[in-house]
Amino acid sequence: MEFPKLDQTSYFTKRTLDNRDGKTTGEIVLWRLKDEKEFKYVLDCPFCKKHSEYNNLVLEKKPYKFKCPNCQKTIRIGKLKDSIKKRRKIETKNYSKNI
Ligand SMILES: [Zn+2]
Repeated sequence: MEFPKLDQTSYFTKRTLDNRDGKTTGEIVLWRLKDEKEFKYVLDCPFCKKHSEYNNLVLEKKPYKFKCPNCQKTIRIGKLKDSIKKRRKIETKNYSKNI
């Protein structure tokens, strides 16, 4: 799937995703085009590490969440502030590692 131009979207986010150990093992790009109701995403699942794409996902309200089509685990798109906070915590914990 091709990524849209930002000015064609009403919502666009790219996030890294953590597995249950708090390690970043996945990534998602999620967007909604202007004048469309459904979201599209390109996902590398942090749990099963499978790649999947979807182009008519219905998300009601924030925080957005949906299930990985491969392993059925919940992918949660948290507030950006939360994930930055979380990442800082991890960085502090693994201060010798350059993430
Ligand atoms: Zn999965």
